Amino acid sequence: MVARVIPVDPFDLVVLGATGDLAQRKILPALCRRLAEGQMPPEAQIIGAARSALSLAAFKEMVADNLAADRGGARISADDITAFLDRLEYVTIDARSGDGWQELGARLRPDITRAFYFSVAPALFGDLAQRVSEHGLATPQTRIVVEKPFGHDLDSARALNAMLAQHFTEAQIYRIDHYLGKETVQNLMAVRFANILFEPLWNARFVDHVQITVAETVGVGGRADYYDQSGAMRDMVQNHLMQLLCLIAMEPPHRFDPDAVRDEKLKVIRALDPVAPGDVVRGQYGAAAGLPGYIDEVGDARSHTESYVALKVGISNWRWKGTPFYLRTGKRLAARTSEIAVTFRDPPHSIFGEDAEWRENVLVIRLQPNEGMTLRVMIKEPGPGGMRLKDVALDMSFAKALGDDMQIPDAYERLIMDVIRGNQTLFMRGDEVEAAWAWTDPVIGAWTADATAPLSYPAGSDGPEAAARLLQRDERQWREVR
Ligand code: NAP
Repeated sequence: MVARVIPVDPFDLVVLGATGDLAQRKILPALCRRLAEGQMPPEAQIIGAARSALSLAAFKEMVADNLAADRGGARISADDITAFLDRLEYVTIDARSGDGWQELGARLRPDITRAFYFSVAPALFGDLAQRVSEHGLATPQTRIVVEKPFGHDLDSARALNAMLAQHFTEAQIYRIDHYLGKETVQNLMAVRFANILFEPLWNARFVDHVQITVAETVGVGGRADYYDQSGAMRDMVQNHLMQLLCLIAMEPPHRFDPDAVRDEKLKVIRALDPVAPGDVVRGQYGAAAGLPGYIDEVGDARSHTESYVALKVGISNWRWKGTPFYLRTGKRLAARTSEIAVTFRDPPHSIFGEDAEWRENVLVIRLQPNEGMTLRVMIKEPGPGGMRLKDVALDMSFAKALGDDMQIPDAYERLIMDVIRGNQTLFMRGDEVEAAWAWTDPVIGAWTADATAPLSYPAGSDGPEAAARLLQRDERQWREVR
């Protein structure tokens, strides 16, 4: 099965920070793949802009080298790369001065969709907004895309929102959380709201608990400086895990429309209980199995930054009161996996007697690897010898179900095309980001006030033992990270 491609209108997209890691590794390859799939109209123009004084030929060479190094994946042919390079322009600009902005303005065409992708350090977001605005480049058809992190606490997020609001309307601002662009994450909404099967059971009466896991095997690697200032709570929980929690817990929006969806997500965040000190575990990986420890990687023996967090979260609303949501994320864990597991309660009465083996029904939505869904159900164990029960998995791999040649687009492909189309459904609204920080800040504040180091866990393990106890205490256990 081949994905249906709906071409977008002609556009000018300015990638600010075009020589940087994200632009070269994600944004430009994503655009090239969209061209290869036929979604980009012939009039589309992509203007790279950065501080480096590069000629257009040198910029094209840089992009071509990165695409050829298989960063674009198998879906890009040599002809696609040639066609993509023809769409590129390059302008040397400085976010901190007026250099290059007039030249950039001269390349932009009036009356078509115009987008500025801020792929630079967050400290420059304000400068870029100011320059775009003061050079008269913000037309009514202009959108800006702002990369993460969007602030590092509530105050800084508020200040950033206020600063962007001086130059752009909320309808022009696209705050990226690339998790929302993942096909399986969008599938959460399809599974919940396009099937009658689950929704009647989707509440505290039938759901025992929910586990959300985003586990990585990698350490901080080349991002040590950034990560050490951030930690798992800011880097993963405040945005990605929070978004997954919202999509699982929100009420059905009345329409699949940007504000209807975001209103419902915001209500979930506002209904989150404050995290009790005993309901959160923070960890930091130590050297093990030949892998370096966190402090070796960041080069600071005194760092208390957490590379792992596990939390028990309550939602105070009619649907969810009494159903805990357990969240965990970490680096250097045993396996790379992202999944959401919804565990249902036991039937009210067993007709098979007290001794029957029993396992709860669990719906697992796998985001990676091998995107798909599994539903664990009880069946009769085959053969004579009475009614013995056994739990089996109804397993659906999306790739198999949709055909092995089905290409699942990268999150950036989907999100950039949504910007061009003017669809904000998968982007965070300003109030949503602020509410998420308002909930996260007290947890981080308590850690900052406490001189105790995070709990150590061996690199390559399942995380700190205290995280296991967080669930054992409630007579539950984490699913294996495999
Ligand atoms: P990066 O590799 O350091 O690239 C930064 C870019 O900004 C370069 O193109 C640089 O141009 C340009 N730049 C720096 N100072 C400038 C100035 N004064 N005026 C104009 N351009 C300037 O950073 P990155 O890793 O690509 O990250 C970009 C953004 O994406 C950040 O907000 C980051 O948090 C976010 N992000 C990155 C990743 C990732 O995987 N890299 C993941 C998630 C989010 P020159 O080199 O030519 O000076």
